[in-house]
Amino acid sequence: MSGKRARDKRKRTGDEITQATQKNKQLAGTCIFCQRSGDMSKQHIWPEWMQKIVEDFQPKTSHTTLGWFPEVDSYYNKKISNGRPGAQRIRKVCSKCNGGWINNEVEAMMRPIFTDIIQHNTNSISTENQFYLALWAVLATMVYEFKDPITMATSQLERDYLYNTKQIPDRRQVWIGRMNADPKYTQYIAHRGIKLSNSNDIKSENLTCNTSCTVFAVNELVIVVGKIPTFVQVFPFLGEVGGKLMPIYPTYKEQVRFDKLSILTSNEVNEIRNSFTSELNQYI
Ligand SMILES: [Zn+2]
Repeated sequence: MSGKRARDKRKRTGDEITQATQKNKQLAGTCIFCQRSGDMSKQHIWPEWMQKIVEDFQPKTSHTTLGWFPEVDSYYNKKISNGRPGAQRIRKVCSKCNGGWINNEVEAMMRPIFTDIIQHNTNSISTENQFYLALWAVLATMVYEFKDPITMATSQLERDYLYNTKQIPDRRQVWIGRMNADPKYTQYIAHRGIKLSNSNDIKSENLTCNTSCTVFAVNELVIVVGKIPTFVQVFPFLGEVGGKLMPIYPTYKEQVRFDKLSILTSNEVNEIRNSFTSELNQYI
């Protein structure tokens, strides 16, 4: 065997060992919330009960992530998948968390208002319901970021905070919107992670991104989660589309009338992430 071939063989063996180790780690897994190992469940990105509510609509889904790293003028785009919403799962949360507090203290709290909006049973969203919709969206963002960790903007400290307090960590804003239900976007998640320069928080939190905008759309309901870095004091207004969105966290109204919200087109929903990014240009 020539020297080169021997080296190649050693390299392959090394890669194989690395891959096997990574696979084992993944199978054993550590819960991103309680940090316990093993007993990992396959968390549905869209909860199973949600599938039943929207079953009359076309089961199409679109998930994309996008990273933006302006200091190196680098743009990264990934289409996660298209397919039945129920098929989208991530093995990052343990069964105890999934069937415990995530179900009881988050999803069960937002399920009634979520169902009522989707099924047109109500148009009135109370302060409490605004909070639980926001909490669910922030939690879903934390899980979804693991689909493509290069665009992750949530630190472990922030996941710990949500897990321990069932509250939303700082530097986040959540908006609600109403869109033209489009069969192509029956269930849609688009996540953009951004790295804003001059920031120490990336290093201290061991993250690739310090800023993010995540858009969830289910039939007519749109929820947007934004995270800004420590040195940005004001949340982006989101341009023209921002005028059609209503903040539900940390500022909120006593009551949001869903039927009184201006209707966003699917193009405008797509535009939300661009608006978020362009308004942060001054911090590059
Ligand atoms: Zn757990």
